[in-house]
This record gives sequence, structure tokens and C-alpha cells, in this order.
Amino acid sequence: MKKVSILIPAYNEQESLNLLYDTLITVIEPLNTYEWEILFINDGSKDNSLEIIKDLYEKDKRICYVDLSRNYGKEIAMMAGFDYVTGDCMVIMDADLQDPPSLIPIMLKYWEAGYDDVYAKRRTRDGESFFKKFTSKMFYKTLQKFTRVQIQKDTGDFRLIDRRGIDALRSIRETQRYTKGLFSWIGFSKKEILFDRNPRIAGSSKWNYFTLTGLAIEGVTSFTVAPLRLASYTGIIISMVYSMFDRMVVGGTLPVKETLTLESIDPLKS
Ligand code: UDP
Ligand code: MG
Repeated sequence: MKKVSILIPAYNEQESLNLLYDTLITVIEPLNTYEWEILFINDGSKDNSLEIIKDLYEKDKRICYVDLSRNYGKEIAMMAGFDYVTGDCMVIMDADLQDPPSLIPIMLKYWEAGYDDVYAKRRTRDGESFFKKFTSKMFYKTLQKFTRVQIQKDTGDFRLIDRRGIDALRSIRETQRYTKGLFSWIGFSKKEILFDRNPRIAGSSKWNYFTLTGLAIEGVTSFTVAPLRLASYTGIIISMVYSMFDRMVVGGTLPVKETLTLESIDPLKS
């Protein structure tokens, strides 16, 4: 029997967890040709999330959990998950039911057909402001311009990954992570499925423009050397301009006010 793991990073999700569990169960129960594992990563929640997860663990032997020592952020929480899932494949999903469990059977179908990474792409981005859509579009456009790795647009972490992909992801141990890029970086055969993303069932998004900007910078700096190249070119241009200015205006080297010798800076000699 093949084993499927569901990996759920959770930070302050007390309002969502029970409903998520109930919904998941209705989806996986009919899929009884598979063995199931539901792995929660409690990412240092400050609410009752851990207690709720522990209660679920007590009543359902398919549930397991990892309790991180503090809030590390979703990227690291997922990395912990990659280490602990034991399935032949895993489905990564958010705790807030924005990623509909009803897509799991479709993902499994494509996995059985031989795909290693079945990722869910948002058909629409309803409920998001014009500004958020615009900045997101610009980010992907810029990132794609500077990197050879194809990074999927309007796609989150909601996807099924085969064991081969899980092992590849596990071998990448960096702590400054842009996991969405890593899914592309490891390669393997990919299949896109489309879905309409629901609003959060409860609680609020853990992202704000400040943290999103941080993730965007992570994306750019880990997938392209463009910023480094930009810094080098800027350096070269500035020094060229400086030396031209030096020749044209001053007619040689810029005047040095005072020449320092070893003696002039030796405190014992003064
Ligand atoms: N999350 C996490 N650690 C964090 C922030 C978020 O594990 O520091 C989890 C969160 O509980 C949820 C998922 O990551 O399951 C996505 O978070 P959120 O819903 O806030 O992101 P959004 O859907 O708004 O992009
Ligand atoms: Mg969410």
C-alpha cells in the first residue's frame, strides 16, 4: 500500500485546525487504497494550536506532529516537514483551508500517472487588492527575467511532491529559503492543475507587506546573481567616472592633503 503524507505548517491556527481536520478526513477516508499520514508542524504558535494538534494526535493515529522551539516562519517549518514525512509522496497545504483538500484526489491521479510535482495554480486572485496583484506580477516578471529557472506564477506551496522530490528538497539545507523557487530548481516532471483559492476560513494572514518584501528579496537573491552583477557594474562605472573626473578637472591625481608616514602616526614619536 502506498503511503501519502499531508504536510501542514501551522502558526496560530487555533480557529482553523479542527475544521481542517474534519474536511481532510472526509476527503481521505474514501481513498482507502492508500495509507495516510497527517503531519502538522507547529511553528511556535502562541495560541492553542499545539493543544488542538495534541488532541487530534490522541484520537487519530494517522496524525503526527513536530513542535518547533520557536516561530521560524513557514519556509523553515516546511523544511522540518520534509525531514519528517514518511510517505511515498506528500501534499503540502496551508492550515486555513485556502488550499482545498478536494484537490488531493486529482493530485493523486496525476502522481499515479507518473508526475513528480503536481502543483496547484490559482485561476483567479479574487479578494486581493489591485496593489497586491500588481506588485506580485512585477515581482514574477523581474525574477523571471534574471533567472534561468522557470518559476511558476500564481502558484503557492500547495502541491504534491513525489518521494524523489522530497529527498532532493531535503538535501538543500540552506536556512534562508525561497521554497517556491526550490520546487523548480530540483527539476522533475511537473503537472499544473488550476483552482480557485478560497478566502481564509478563520484567523488572519501571517504576511504583511514587510514580510512579503523580505520573501521577495529572498527570491531574488537566491535565484539570480543579478544584484551582485549590478553592484559590480555600479562599482566599475563609479570608478571610471571618478578617474575621468580626476583627469579632466584636476589634471592628474586629486591633491592629497597630507602624506602620512609611519612616523607621523607613531604615538611614541609625537
Ligand atoms: N505559517 C507558518 N509559520 C509562519 C507563518 C505562517 O507555519 O510564521 C503557516 C500558516 O499557519 C499557514 C501557512 O503557513 O498554514 C500560510 O500562511 P498564511 O495563511 O498566513 O499565508 P497566506 O495564505 O496569507 O499567503
Ligand atoms: Mg492563508
